[in-house]
Amino acid sequence: MSTPAPAAPARSPLSPAQKALHKLGLSRDIDLALHLPLRYEDETRITALSQAREGDCIQIEARVLRSEVSLRPRRQLKVQVDDGSDTCVLRFLNFYPSHQKAFSEGAWVRVRGEVRGGLLGREMVHPSFQAAGGPLPQALTPVYPTVAQLPQAYLRKAVLGGLSRADLSETVPAQAWPEGPQRHWSLRQSLEFLHQPRPDVELAQLEDRSHPAWQRLKAEELLAQQLSQLQARQARDAMRAPALASPGQGPMARLRERLLEALPFALTRAQQRVQAQIAADLQREQPMHRLLQGDVGSGKTVVAALAALRCIEAGWQCALMAPTEILAEQHFRKLVGWLEPLGVHTAWLTGSQRASERRAALSAAESGHAHLVVGTHAVIEDKVQFSKLGLVVIDEQHRFGVAQRLALRRKTTPDEHGCELEPHLLMMSATPIPRTLAMSYYADLDVSTIDELPPGRSPIVTKVVDEARREQIVERIAQQVGLGRQVYWVCPLIEESEAVDLRNATETHAQLAQALPGHKVGLLHSRLSAAEKKAVMAEFAGAQMAVLVSTTVIEVGVDVPNASLMVIEHAERFGLSQLHQLRGRVGRGAAASACVLLYSTGDAPRLSPAARARLQAMAQTQDGFEIARRDLEIRGPGEFLGARQSGAPLLRFADLTTDAPWLEWARAWAPTMLARQPQLASRHVQRWLGGKSDFVKA
Ligand code: ADP
Ligand code: MG
Repeated sequence: MSTPAPAAPARSPLSPAQKALHKLGLSRDIDLALHLPLRYEDETRITALSQAREGDCIQIEARVLRSEVSLRPRRQLKVQVDDGSDTCVLRFLNFYPSHQKAFSEGAWVRVRGEVRGGLLGREMVHPSFQAAGGPLPQALTPVYPTVAQLPQAYLRKAVLGGLSRADLSETVPAQAWPEGPQRHWSLRQSLEFLHQPRPDVELAQLEDRSHPAWQRLKAEELLAQQLSQLQARQARDAMRAPALASPGQGPMARLRERLLEALPFALTRAQQRVQAQIAADLQREQPMHRLLQGDVGSGKTVVAALAALRCIEAGWQCALMAPTEILAEQHFRKLVGWLEPLGVHTAWLTGSQRASERRAALSAAESGHAHLVVGTHAVIEDKVQFSKLGLVVIDEQHRFGVAQRLALRRKTTPDEHGCELEPHLLMMSATPIPRTLAMSYYADLDVSTIDELPPGRSPIVTKVVDEARREQIVERIAQQVGLGRQVYWVCPLIEESEAVDLRNATETHAQLAQALPGHKVGLLHSRLSAAEKKAVMAEFAGAQMAVLVSTTVIEVGVDVPNASLMVIEHAERFGLSQLHQLRGRVGRGAAASACVLLYSTGDAPRLSPAARARLQAMAQTQDGFEIARRDLEIRGPGEFLGARQSGAPLLRFADLTTDAPWLEWARAWAPTMLARQPQLASRHVQRWLGGKSDFVKA
């Protein structure tokens, strides 16, 4: 364990720089020691001006020839210096009396900056400077990631202090390291080297982090992440959950069989496989934490229904939670349709319902009369009490935070010995997580994947179209609607402040209504009340409405198989997985389906490279995993996961695209280390993740 950084004397307020250190999360010595440079500056040598080429960043020692404040073209301090080989003008647009003093005529100065070839010879703009003649540093000067109020010089001192005080004894057993140059670098050597590399080092190896010292640190970081997730899993395995086994007979026996008999379709092989995995988990006495991932339309709902039925057969209640009212409502309808005939009672719980309705739902949950409670996040509120909650299903889990998941797990039931039983947890997601990311960030979850769509789905043809051709698209819609097809038209959210460049949904709605006489065009947006939204959706689902103009509220889960064309306006503004989710609303019936991505470059001559990459990916593939992989490539893991979703500390050093071999190594080694050297493992996690290890809690 490392000692905490020496605290400021009691009650003396923190200086802005100390506050900034805390903001960066640098509170312990080890945190400081692990705060590694972004890049380095070479202040170890003095270069002659005559040797420098344009654009070189060099350090010179020179005599001040002249120093003057000129007012044209704008107020600035101009200093002419001579180092014996050539002259150079230093320019400061912001300057203080201290600058003028340092550059008084005849002064000998050490200056460092980028050499530019100006009109009147060489110049440096805003170089750093000090008096000349002092000793030169022996190592490269590190430049650290920092924030406002935290000058590099202060940070460097703090880091070196932390480095000298921190406990850097080895936590990874020597035999764990595979063959390779990183074997010869201890943690202490690696850190000392990276903070103060010798000037003769291969800078490229430091910059691309391929140097053995970097390899060593990245491997240790990944190992800490794997260990902490294994610890979380062990902690979970120490918890108890009800073993949900079927009674074999009675009114609630055979619910699943009866549902399968009643369904108009047979389960796909993938659905059968994942439902068996879930069933096996539910029979265990440890809480299940399983992520069910499957592309949009892969049929996750019926798998969730089967899990709920197993729970209900065993005499326990199930709660199902969806992120939006529309989605929750759609689940509710579907589940009531499937389960009510089997004698299963379902309650509906949402924030917007009338007080009397809500009271009835709450009492049904509390008394146990409701076998299944479906709703929005209202389901997890403290006021909601269950009689015997055995299973929680969370749809679109990435839209919920860790806190909400935890709240549900607190709804425990005591067993006959007074031991609290936690509900099992099934999380569903239509955003498949690429393998390396799943291995790294979700190692504490079990993952089931539906990798097959139900038969009879038609491929969706995707076209990327310039906004300038909008009229043609409207004609195409008229044609489709004439054939009895239904169309989604998606607009970005209505935001008053963005009205300037957003053709808002209302305008589009008016335009389409005018272009399609005799057909009903509906409008759905976030400002409508829940009842209004419901009415609009019901008309579209019932096919009385031909076109639904909507903001992204239909993003997930909505299921209207007759809709075969989707137009997404300002497609360049949407994220890749969002586009994929949206497109998944069509192609659900037998009719050939299409998706049109309308883009506009606004005032810019062309789309940004990232926007173009997103639209291209959409046009090229329909495979959710491939889309997710490209999304990860375009956005990087931080954004891909979303801070809210992951609730986990992101990797600081390791890069999952280049360091996958270390990830494999960490995965292989972590269980052994945790079993053989649990104390060392704990110290390792503590060192690397400190208080930031949320896996342990989630
Ligand atoms: P998602 O995984 O996106 O939540 P849903 O559960 O909404 O997908 O399923 C999409 C549609 O496919 C629904 O209409 C559902 O009834 C239907 N479906 C699910 N499984 C099958 C299957 N095995 N065969 C045919 N249709 C199915
Ligand atoms: Mg769904």
